[in-house]
Amino acid sequence: MKVTSSTTITYPIVETFHSIQGEGAWMGVSAFFIRLAGCDVHCSWCDQKESWPIEAYPQWSVEKLTKLAKKTNPAIVVITGGEPLIHDLNPLTYQLKELGLQVHLETSGAHPFSGNFDWITFSPKPFKLPNNTIYDQVNELKIVISSELDLQWGQQEAKKVPLNTIKYLQPEWNKLKSKQLIYDFVLKHPDWRISVQIHKFLEFK
Ligand code: SF4
Repeated sequence: MKVTSSTTITYPIVETFHSIQGEGAWMGVSAFFIRLAGCDVHCSWCDQKESWPIEAYPQWSVEKLTKLAKKTNPAIVVITGGEPLIHDLNPLTYQLKELGLQVHLETSGAHPFSGNFDWITFSPKPFKLPNNTIYDQVNELKIVISSELDLQWGQQEAKKVPLNTIKYLQPEWNKLKSKQLIYDFVLKHPDWRISVQIHKFLEFK
């Protein structure tokens, strides 16, 4: 977030787009995505590496972003990244809520929590540990699995979130071994579910 005057708060924007939410409990609903630039987690398998440098992207005002979201008339607005919590999300989310929009967050939790959200998808990464402020906020937990070690990591993280959190395992995209790992795990651990990214199967954005 950048404050250029007392009234103009801006965020670096990689893109905004209107599509469906492709994963998790809100899969299939109309969603307006705001992808913020900036991430210092640096997952080796990240498919959004271009979003990492903040300076590479234009700054959009809260007013511009919220007007566009409202005009799109989505069921939900999803703040994603990058790692959105690298920014103070209070100005953006409170303004979205002021307009009557339902606001969701997708985060690794690697920075202190900020913002006003209706739903929080928490996807912790071992590459940069979560900040403790995230755990009480979580509605769904998503662990990306590429090896057995990730399963152990995910079980440890699951102990820190509220009891009613929905727990997902997601295979690293197109990695056959990780698909088999999560299939076997979920059959033995019925409190976990498999998450797929339906937009990739349907070939939507
Ligand atoms: S936290 Fe997300 S955006 Fe950042 S490196 Fe990991 S997968 Fe990529």
